[in-house]
Amino acid sequence: MKFNEATCEECGVCLVQCPFLELSIDQAKEEISQLIKSRSYRKIIKNCAGCAYCNVICPTQSNPSELIREIRLKGFHERGISKLALINEEIPDNLMYLCFEAQNEEKRREIENYKIPSKSNEMFYLGCGVPYLYPDLAQTKLLEDLPKLGGLENCCNGYVYNFFGEEEAKVKGTEFFERFKALDVKKLITFCPDCEKMIKGVYPAIINGFNIEGQNIVEYFIEKYHRGELNFKNKINQRVTFQDPCPWRSLDKKVYNGPREFLEIIGAEVVEMKHTKEKSLCCGAPIATVNRDLGKKISKMNIAEAKSIDADAISFLCSGCLFRLSPFAKRADIEPYYITELAQMAIGEKPIHKIIDATKKIENYILKRVMDNPRILREKYTIKNGKFNQV
Ligand code: SF4
Ligand code: SF4
Repeated sequence: MKFNEATCEECGVCLVQCPFLELSIDQAKEEISQLIKSRSYRKIIKNCAGCAYCNVICPTQSNPSELIREIRLKGFHERGISKLALINEEIPDNLMYLCFEAQNEEKRREIENYKIPSKSNEMFYLGCGVPYLYPDLAQTKLLEDLPKLGGLENCCNGYVYNFFGEEEAKVKGTEFFERFKALDVKKLITFCPDCEKMIKGVYPAIINGFNIEGQNIVEYFIEKYHRGELNFKNKINQRVTFQDPCPWRSLDKKVYNGPREFLEIIGAEVVEMKHTKEKSLCCGAPIATVNRDLGKKISKMNIAEAKSIDADAISFLCSGCLFRLSPFAKRADIEPYYITELAQMAIGEKPIHKIIDATKKIENYILKRVMDNPRILREKYTIKNGKFNQV
């Protein structure tokens, strides 16, 4: 997906309606015009969460967030990106590896098992977030039918697409495709919206013959339920809202039906926040590392919306959103759940549900590692033809 300069009327709607930039219409018009002309960094980019909300509201479907992404990508290629953000097994001390280190020995052994591929037409594709951040989520009989695969070695390379663009994603994506083809995989059942975006949207568009089907875990549960293979006998009698993840904005809108239908199936009362579905608010995670205050403001906006509709619980299908918003939700007396935990409760399991403890433990560990070794923050890498180089 690219910014379409030919269709952009420089009306400024995208930037004036951005929930976070707080620009007047004249400022918005001036900014979009300057961004188009200069194709270089401007101060407002610091306050852009990269959420793609503006793509949805642009009246000419010109993809304005892609213009900002294009400028950011240029900078990442030139100056590199912090190794913390690079989810690759060759790069030491990346964020996911630190999360792995933060787990106890038993969990680390469990995570190592998710890296070992076995042949199967269908797999639970845990991505990186579930194994490294919240491995307890994979401990359920709901996930016993198929092999579970995840971890750095099996990463979808969404971060390559997000930070370095289509060309590099094509190189890494081809490796990904070959790896899963060799395992006879026809369908990956995803737990992360970025993996889902890559498998359903990005790879079919940029890799010839990419034919692995993607299905998110909620769609999988719904299908099994309608086939009579799942019995959600315990109804969830709570008012539950769902935090729609940003990467879904690039997918078919049908994806938004899944969590709502599923929550109804398990007996929850579905309540919608003011910003919902393709117009949902970003959780604040992507911007929080570079602009802490803005990240906090965005996270608070989300939870204020959930509070204003008297939600008992907020559910997620993204471990990044879960990590970011759980502490804010808890403080507002709203229980945060990964949506599969609600499925566990509905079949009569008791999920381990130590989301807040796990979040704190990981945060503290990362903080300590970074304070002990500040070089972690300074080391930057770039990529060329799929190979990482330190800058
Ligand atoms: S990208 Fe769309 S909303 Fe933004 S200025 Fe251009 S036409 Fe208007
Ligand atoms: S990508 Fe999101 S944060 Fe950035 S300008 Fe668009 S709406 Fe605003």
